[in-house]
Amino acid sequence: MLDILAFGAHPDDVEIGIGGTIAVHTAKGYRCGIVDLSKGEKASHGNPEERMLEGEKAARVLGAEVRECANLPDAFIKNDGDSREKVIQLIRKYRPKIVLCPYFDDNHPDHINASLLVKEACHLSGLLKYPIEGKPYRPTQLFYYFLGKTADPTLLIDISSQVDIKWKAIACHKSQFSLPSEVRVETMVNSPVFIQYLKSRDQFFGSLIRVPYAEGLVPEGKLFLNNLFSLGGE
Ligand SMILES: [Zn+2]
Repeated sequence: MLDILAFGAHPDDVEIGIGGTIAVHTAKGYRCGIVDLSKGEKASHGNPEERMLEGEKAARVLGAEVRECANLPDAFIKNDGDSREKVIQLIRKYRPKIVLCPYFDDNHPDHINASLLVKEACHLSGLLKYPIEGKPYRPTQLFYYFLGKTADPTLLIDISSQVDIKWKAIACHKSQFSLPSEVRVETMVNSPVFIQYLKSRDQFFGSLIRVPYAEGLVPEGKLFLNNLFSLGGE
C-alpha cells in the first residue's frame, strides 16, 4: 500500500509538475509511487530504454518506492476501456490514499486525456462489481497538478525544503533537458529557458504563501478537514 500514487502521461511529468511535493512527503516518511502512463517514445529525443533508466534514477532521488509504466501509447493516450483497466489494476494494486494526476486543461492532448482517464479510473476502481482483477478500492482524494498550463491553485504545498531535490530529479532526465546543442533539435522542453519557467512558476506560487517555492494543486471535488489546525503547515 502507498500513501501517494502520482500519475504522469510521460516519464518526466511527475518530476516537472509535482516533484517537490513527492520529495516533501517521502522526507516525512510517507510512501510514494510514480506511474508513467507511457514510455515517452514519441519525444524528440531519447528512447524508451534510456528514458526508463532516467526515470528510475529520478524516482530514487525523490525517494519514491516504486515507478511503473502502464505502457499506453505516447501521443495516443486515450480514456478508453483498455486504458482504464490498466490504471484500475494499478490503483487496486497500490491502494493509495491520495492520487495525483495532470490538470485537465493543458496544451498536450496526452495530459488532458491522462487527467480524465485517472479521474474515472479512481472512481471505477471502487465499484464492487467492476470486472477487473484486484479488490475494489477508491482513493480518498484526487489532486490535479500543472504541466503545460497553469490555473488558480486551490492548495499550495511549500516545497522550499526539498526544491534542490526537485531540480536534481528533473536533471536525471538527461535525454530531455541536457543534451549538447550539437545533437539536439530545439524544442520548448529542452530550450535553456524551460527550467527557468518551472522555477519562476514555483517561485510565484511560493510568493502567494510567502515561502521561496511552492507547487499548486487543484482538488477533485471539495476538500474537508476535521481540524482547522491542520491548515497552514501544522
Ligand atoms: Zn508530459
